[in-house]
Amino acid sequence: METPSDMHRYIEEQRREGKTVGYVPTMGFLHAGHFSLFERAVKENDCAVASVFVNPTQFGDEKDFLTYPQDRERDLQFAEQAGIAAVFCPSREAMYPNGTDVTVKVASKTDVLCGKSRPGHFDGVATVLTKLFTIIQPQRVYFGMKDAQQVAIVADLIRAFHFPIELVACPIIRESDGLAKSSRNVHLSAAERVEAAYLHRALEQALEEVKRGCRSDQAVVTLIQNDLLNHLKLGKIDYVDALSYPALRRAKDGQLNGRFILALAVYYKNARLIDNVTGEI
Ligand code: AMP
Repeated sequence: METPSDMHRYIEEQRREGKTVGYVPTMGFLHAGHFSLFERAVKENDCAVASVFVNPTQFGDEKDFLTYPQDRERDLQFAEQAGIAAVFCPSREAMYPNGTDVTVKVASKTDVLCGKSRPGHFDGVATVLTKLFTIIQPQRVYFGMKDAQQVAIVADLIRAFHFPIELVACPIIRESDGLAKSSRNVHLSAAERVEAAYLHRALEQALEEVKRGCRSDQAVVTLIQNDLLNHLKLGKIDYVDALSYPALRRAKDGQLNGRFILALAVYYKNARLIDNVTGEI
């Protein structure tokens, strides 16, 4: 489906037949991470739909937007194999009929992690999701914990605008060496790809330290930073942080407590990679 009205009509038909609708928003160039969300949406709903839309308003960096990998035909086959009933692939004009005259602003949880290094990113995410949720009106939406800050902010968006939608957060799918699957991994050189496995390794080692009793957020952050500095020759650290989750607040007295997230972002020449682990004390 390419227009909001076609998609809306299709969904209305499903709803008239009494079907529950599960929805997975994506930017395409689909991989096993997306597939896991599709499978879950198919399993838990009568009708599972997805969208493929590279949303311009969530990219600060024009080059990142213009080079974002795309393969529409492969994506459609992939979605069909997973049991997705319909894929919404709107044009930029269809999604933004009056440009950015009316947008959504996210004022909380955006001063840390990706919100801090990508100003305006989550405003773009919240704006496009508000449009997509309104068009598709699903009962359930599926998001990956790969983008844990996004999950926390989408939960706030759903509450703020009273969307009658259940948010389902799904685990991170990884390559065999631990690298989180990402559409942007195709932009890594062979040497960068090998090195990128350390991102997850550094997070896991820090998580082990927390399990062993280390509570100081600064000590955990330093541990991850040192591990990355020792192993990364090509990548450059954007951020490393340890915060409460989903509130994304700094720990009181610098001591991790309750549910927490260890998160990082690393720049390679043509890709910025993010990863995280969550735990509970
Ligand atoms: P994207 O196409 O990158 O915007 O991602 C669409 C959805 O797939 C988001 O909810 C992501 O968090 C999720 N996703 C992307 N990569 C992974 C992964 N490796 N494991 C689990 N979910 C993922």
